[in-house]
Amino acid sequence: MKAMVLNGPGQPLEWTDLPDRQPGAGEIRVHVLACGVCRTDLHVLDGELPDMVYPIIPGHEIVGRIDGIGADVAGLKLGDRVGVPWLGHTCGICPYCVARRENLCDRPLFTGYTRDGGFATSVIADARFAFPLGDEGSDVALAPLLCAGLIGWRSLCMAGEGQPMASKALGLYGFGAAAHIVAQAARHEGWDIYAFTQAGDTKAQAFAMTLGARWAGASEDTPPQSLDAAIIFAPVGSLIPLALKAVRKGGRVVCAGIHMSDIPSFAYSLLWEERQLVSVANLTREDGLAFLPLAQKIGIVTKTTTYALGDANQALADLRAGKFEGAAVLVPSSAVR
Ligand SMILES: [Zn+2]
Ligand SMILES: [Zn+2]
Repeated sequence: MKAMVLNGPGQPLEWTDLPDRQPGAGEIRVHVLACGVCRTDLHVLDGELPDMVYPIIPGHEIVGRIDGIGADVAGLKLGDRVGVPWLGHTCGICPYCVARRENLCDRPLFTGYTRDGGFATSVIADARFAFPLGDEGSDVALAPLLCAGLIGWRSLCMAGEGQPMASKALGLYGFGAAAHIVAQAARHEGWDIYAFTQAGDTKAQAFAMTLGARWAGASEDTPPQSLDAAIIFAPVGSLIPLALKAVRKGGRVVCAGIHMSDIPSFAYSLLWEERQLVSVANLTREDGLAFLPLAQKIGIVTKTTTYALGDANQALADLRAGKFEGAAVLVPSSAVR
């Protein structure tokens, strides 16, 4: 197999030939057809997440076909197309797993972070954490649903929790891969979208409007009406006081990222009146089983820019620089170099 390997924090990924791997008990081997590039991959690259062990193969928005099955795998067969998400394994016995909050498991493994991921021609996955995808939809279009979509969906569900008001005004801070997917799901659920981008990013603002946003502007702008909830996708702590300021009494601000710069101090009045500030961590398999069929049913369209596997460093650099709309996806079949 071939892979783009991270050998240490801050280093470029290295094109590497590795021996083919065999799936163990409970595992499948997946021939990777497409793997999305997520902002979390930048945090992995930069060594911003705890407990990293090197070398590691990043990538956790994997679409592929099963080409090897270990013992004791039920419900999947050779040739099935599956999605392999960020949540790669849970212990099943800690208090969080038992309480059906496996996203908070005490002993989890995360694809492309604490177990090898999909920036490769092949990946070994825990079969219980792979989602059957069927054959509808292209591999590239489905890949961003596996993290940007799932985390966006979990954030949207959390934004909607305990919303007593009839109006549903939702702010999205940072209009990239996750927001462009969640905007479509949110519109389907009856939310009006208010998109916030970096000041002057008229391209992203126009992109948001094409996806049905009611308004788009800079993060510092006051939206035309106060928001019922907001989701912050950009890893920028200074957005938190801005979002709290934009939500009404009792409104909720959801932080969707795994990593964020420090939050500046702010006046208590921004949190007062039962405004809520929460974070979303990881995903559960239930999220996937709810969201992936819904995404296919309502026809969520993902805007993607494809790169060869060997060009993963370029894809990551372009993501960092905000060079494309939507999501970047690596395609190993065009990996020849
Ligand atoms: Zn991700
Ligand atoms: Zn657990």
